[in-house]
Amino acid sequence: MRSLRARIFLILILVGTLPNVLMETIIVKTYEIKAVEQRSATVQNQLKILANHLIANEFLASYNPNSPYKLKSHEIIEAELDMLANLYEGRVMIIGSNYKVLLDTYNISEGKTMISEEVVKCFRGENISNYDSEHGYIEMTRPIVNTTDDGDSTIQGVMLTSISDSTITATEKSLNRNAVAFEIITIVMVMVFSFVISGLLTRPFERITKAIGEVKAGYSNDPISVRSYSETVHISDAFNQLQSRMKTIDDSRKEFVSNVSHELKTPLTSMKVLADSLIAQPDAPAELYREFMEDIASEIDRENSIITDLLALTKMDMSNQELNITSVNIGDLAEIILKRLRPIARKKDVELTLEEAREIVADVDEVKMSLIMTNLVENAIKYNRDHGTVKVMLDSDIQFFTFSVVDSGIGIPQESIPFIYERFYRVDKSHSREIGGTGLGLAITRSAVLLHRGTITVTSEEGVGSTFTVKIPLSFIGS
Ligand code: ADP
Repeated sequence: MRSLRARIFLILILVGTLPNVLMETIIVKTYEIKAVEQRSATVQNQLKILANHLIANEFLASYNPNSPYKLKSHEIIEAELDMLANLYEGRVMIIGSNYKVLLDTYNISEGKTMISEEVVKCFRGENISNYDSEHGYIEMTRPIVNTTDDGDSTIQGVMLTSISDSTITATEKSLNRNAVAFEIITIVMVMVFSFVISGLLTRPFERITKAIGEVKAGYSNDPISVRSYSETVHISDAFNQLQSRMKTIDDSRKEFVSNVSHELKTPLTSMKVLADSLIAQPDAPAELYREFMEDIASEIDRENSIITDLLALTKMDMSNQELNITSVNIGDLAEIILKRLRPIARKKDVELTLEEAREIVADVDEVKMSLIMTNLVENAIKYNRDHGTVKVMLDSDIQFFTFSVVDSGIGIPQESIPFIYERFYRVDKSHSREIGGTGLGLAITRSAVLLHRGTITVTSEEGVGSTFTVKIPLSFIGS
């Protein structure tokens, strides 16, 4: 029942057949009511005529059912009553004012007293007509009214009649038979129609499932397109977006693996060249050995730092990365980091200063925060000119604190700015290598900032300097 097709099928069947069944039931019922009304009216008319005859012949006063001699007029009336009873397959009783049955066309109740509710009501002047569908008869009463010349009317007796509904039920049965036959034909037609229509309506969804299945199985990488309904358009679009996102992730993973291999291979190639050239010169002087061994050692250091950075980055990328959040005095932390980096700055005679607008205490992971600060300040020193400056500025508002590093260095070309956070991206590869860069520092920094739900931005002008600004919430929001 969870299938859309099954639901559409059922709904169509219900909509197609219910009104029919209802309409047929109403028609048959209406026929029954109308037929009973009509029959009652006809019989009531006949009874009225008979009642007049009874009055005209003073039947009620003169009739004696037990008398062996019968008046001619009584015989005529008896015959008329019998005819009426036969015609409508019923029974007629004439009841006198003392509630005694004077005449019964069945000849069984004569002389008996008949005080039924209908008879009593009829003596009060009410014409009663009841339909008992269970037992299949219509019961009617008619007062026998004598109206004097003065206009006074008295009810002298009551005619109690019951007639069979057999002709009505026969017609009803035949109507029902036709209705059932019609319903069966309609249901079969509606079922065939519903089956075809529900199939047609759900076909676009089957096409989508098939297209997705083909992509899943790897037969196709093309975007899927089922534009039959707006719903299928939405599903297609959402799937295509998902697919292109997966492709981007896959491409970047491939690119990353190829970059890693390349980066790790470069120091190895240098070491191999250095070692081979030493092997090729068996009589090489000890100084040359020493010089080459120093080069090999620095390549090993480089390999080591690439691997260390890669490990840091992979750790940061793990989705279940746990942050060790504590309350940290950001100013104190910045001072410690600047102190640690001062020896490198001194080598290039770069002036390192710290400006704290106010005391800042924030909920951060101290290790990752110091990684962010170290990377940014280290870059500001590395990519600076000799005798340059690096200014670290700390500020905060109610929600965030900002950590800015302003340098007077070489700057970053505008076209390179969008790429600097990518892994292994370096504006000037050889310069970066010379100064020991791996191209991973800013990627690590950005990941650490994002883990804190913060942002990192940069403005830069070539030859003038760059400003990196990190903005992080004072209290950790969590995931
Ligand atoms: P690297 O290890 O090469 O420094 P990063 O990821 O830290 O790698 O930086 C990527 C590139 O961005 C660097 O190679 C450099 O070209 C550029 N860059 C980063 N910081 C600065 C800066 N303060 N001034 C100029 N260029 C910078």
